[in-house]
Amino acid sequence: MKRESSLRVTQQEIELQKTYIKKINKLNQNKNKKFIVNTFGCQMSESDGEKYRGLLIEMGYELTDNPIEADIIVFNTCCVREHAEEKIFSHLGNLKVLKRTKKDLIIAFGGCMAQQPQVVEKIKKSHRHVDIILGTHNVYRFPELLYNAVNSAKMISEVWDIDGVIPEGLPVMRNDGLKAWVDIMYGCNNFCSYCIVPYVRGRERSRDPKDIINEIKLLAEQGYKEVTLLGQNVNSYGLDNSSLTPQFSKEGNKEENYSSNSKNIRFDFTGLLEEVCKIEGIDRIRFMTSNPKDFSDKLIEVMAHNPKICRHVHLPFQSGSTRILEKMNRKYSKQQYIDLVEKIRKSMPEVSFTSDIIVGFPGETEEDFQDTLDVVKKVRFDLVYTFLFSKREGTPAAVMEDQVDEETKKNRFDRLLELVYKIVEENNEKMVGCIEEVFVEGISRNNEEYLTGRTGTNKIVNFPGDVSLTKKFVNVEILSQHLWYLKGKLVI
Ligand code: SAH
Ligand code: SF4
Repeated sequence: MKRESSLRVTQQEIELQKTYIKKINKLNQNKNKKFIVNTFGCQMSESDGEKYRGLLIEMGYELTDNPIEADIIVFNTCCVREHAEEKIFSHLGNLKVLKRTKKDLIIAFGGCMAQQPQVVEKIKKSHRHVDIILGTHNVYRFPELLYNAVNSAKMISEVWDIDGVIPEGLPVMRNDGLKAWVDIMYGCNNFCSYCIVPYVRGRERSRDPKDIINEIKLLAEQGYKEVTLLGQNVNSYGLDNSSLTPQFSKEGNKEENYSSNSKNIRFDFTGLLEEVCKIEGIDRIRFMTSNPKDFSDKLIEVMAHNPKICRHVHLPFQSGSTRILEKMNRKYSKQQYIDLVEKIRKSMPEVSFTSDIIVGFPGETEEDFQDTLDVVKKVRFDLVYTFLFSKREGTPAAVMEDQVDEETKKNRFDRLLELVYKIVEENNEKMVGCIEEVFVEGISRNNEEYLTGRTGTNKIVNFPGDVSLTKKFVNVEILSQHLWYLKGKLVI
């Protein structure tokens, strides 16, 4: 479906959705209705999941994790890799039986998968038990679509084929009251040749900084201590036409409330970061994802001068081979990536790096793969998300010749993991005996006597302690390393 594309969703449209929220809330009163939101995929998808949950709570539903109890199940999907899609279809198929016995159950299918026409076709043909299909651009219209679905037996499908919009002013339900994801921009303009994201999330749109700042100030008032600024390429925040902001006073007046009547100017990512650093109560600021091609010297400088910005950079390099990087349309070379890491380390030696790597991109030879291993050895990452190349319909890489066979891909993948794990363990081992500042997130999931938290460099640290330390910053001496986490003891 085509929709006229005006960037910011109008207040009128938001108000309309609020009337539907009220209507459903009224219908649900005293009925004990329950919901599940199944989220798959990246942090952007997690963030959409929080929006679905926020809307459902406002509409009078309660959270459950038992599908049998649920009155509505939302699939908030991801299509970055084929394997994820297969898994999601299998989950969806499993609900056919439940829907047969529970006719009032509403099943909604949203997220990146829904943005693909072939997926919508497949649902319409083989998954008739789905009640609502909605794309990534109209999550904010969920209350109206849900109201219509509750009052009709027909499948409702609304997927917009547009560059995208910016919705503001809808409820969000965050998980833990400690750390919050905050979208700063949507979409992507980079068109890496393997990636489906630009096709399903639309063009880059930056949120107005005043909306971001006000949201984070509110989070601080609610007791949140940490925010992660989210975007597919945060370094290009504000470079599109959609990000306009009031002129900030030089002193960065903390009491200032950002009003939309103020004079508007452009604002880039470093400017935004500096403003977020001024917000009292927010002690840790993270951001992801950074594309190496846009990681500026200014950003390094701003990070180095602001201790609130965590000493962790997630910097996907995808492949160590300059030849493959060119085919991927990544716009940097192996050497440029290594130089960038060195430059960041020179300015902040304590920074930890994590990355994403794709193994088995079309045409990847053993020599190309050796370049990937070489980058891992040189940078010595603290964590790497490793992916087998997956053909995504509609992307240039899906139809490239010389696709790598599955066995070779798998073999390289295993060798890469072995090296990554070895380095992570060696890095962790070096931390044994050190004292680290840890933000306590609560009781450890695996051992009730332990608390769990993270260092600024994003390492998980478990240590014995009292639950009252949750949401506090404590010093922990690291005693041992266990690949995915460190164990320690409180230093009083
Ligand atoms: N915007 C981020 C990445 C978002 S997608 C960036 O540019 O770094 C998350 C990761 O999924 C990517 O970094 C990539 O490693 C992986 N990925 C994306 N498309 C893929 C594909 N077709 N096959 C395998 N992995 C893929
Ligand atoms: Fe995909 Fe590249 Fe955009 Fe990241 S930068 S979302 S990998 S196209």
